[in-house]
Amino acid sequence: MSIKLNNGIEIPQIGFGCWKVEKSICAQQIYEAIKAGYRLFDGAMDYGNEKEIGDGIQLAIKDGLVKREELFIVSKLWNNYHDPKSVKLAINKVLSDLKLDYLDIFYIHFPIAFKFVPFEEKYPPGFYCGDGDKFIYEDVSLAQTWAALENLVEEGLVKSIGISNFSGALIQDLLRTCKIKPALLQIEHHPYLVQEKLIEYTKSQGINIVAYSSFGPQSFVELDHPAAQDSITLFKHETVTKIASNHSVSPAKVLLRWSTQRGLLIIPKSNQKERLLANLKINDFDLTQEELDAISSLDKGLRFNDPWNWNKIPTFI
Ligand code: NAD
Repeated sequence: MSIKLNNGIEIPQIGFGCWKVEKSICAQQIYEAIKAGYRLFDGAMDYGNEKEIGDGIQLAIKDGLVKREELFIVSKLWNNYHDPKSVKLAINKVLSDLKLDYLDIFYIHFPIAFKFVPFEEKYPPGFYCGDGDKFIYEDVSLAQTWAALENLVEEGLVKSIGISNFSGALIQDLLRTCKIKPALLQIEHHPYLVQEKLIEYTKSQGINIVAYSSFGPQSFVELDHPAAQDSITLFKHETVTKIASNHSVSPAKVLLRWSTQRGLLIIPKSNQKERLLANLKINDFDLTQEELDAISSLDKGLRFNDPWNWNKIPTFI
């Protein structure tokens, strides 16, 4: 199943998430995922594994599993490169690491601009801004960063551009000045964070939505995130398990299908071959409207990946 973006490009509804895919197994994972049928790969500068993703892609192309033009390779501009001059450096770095001459989708990862950190000093810099663990902000607006991404499209280095972790108000503001509309918004989305209004507004603007962390706390438990540790895993939540048993499918499949039936794209991540295959084949049954509503009613506005909760935000914000 594919989804048509507002620029006419069609991309697969299900992709493979590359966050926390360890470098040591990453190239092989990408290769296996391509073999399993994945064509959309969701990476980011911040994930630190783009060289290895590139190795996996190159191997798959060399072995004749796939052609470059059949793949949809995604990256995200990290916070330290929002200045238009840095955007150019960033795309060159990403393309060189991935060993590609164009990207399919490039997102602004977070609507937060940090001070530039040279690649030689620290890459990926994470939350490092050049001075210990102090956050230092860059004086650059999202409109300026977006215009620099638009230039990348004009130069043929990127096919589609998108935004991630933006609120409705920020999207509205960006739409006032952009020449190219964002093709996609990528957001945290699971039954504990349903984001109904944001989805409604974004769709009304013709922007498609990609859900990340579709299994909710699962991805954050392994990071020792306190709220994730305290949450009931969605795989064992009785609403989800009951619906799963109604259809004789796994709770994971119910969670992914709930997202795709809401019209969203999904990018689950797994290192296990069985799950890799299973996550790709979740659209072969339908949840009833009642079941969809029951899952949505678990919403408690619980966001695990909240940039304003990062631990060193100055008090003036
Ligand atoms: P996810 O919801 O895909 O969960 C991954 C966890 O679920 C892993 O522990 C995995 O082992 C487990 N899992 C996967 N398939 C399963 C199955 N079928 N049954 C049981 N368990 C299963 O979490 P995620 O990695 O946070 O999100 C997916 C992708 O979204 C990331 O890899 C990344 O590409 C993207 N992402 C983007 C942002 C952003 O800021 N834009 C933030 C987080 C993640």
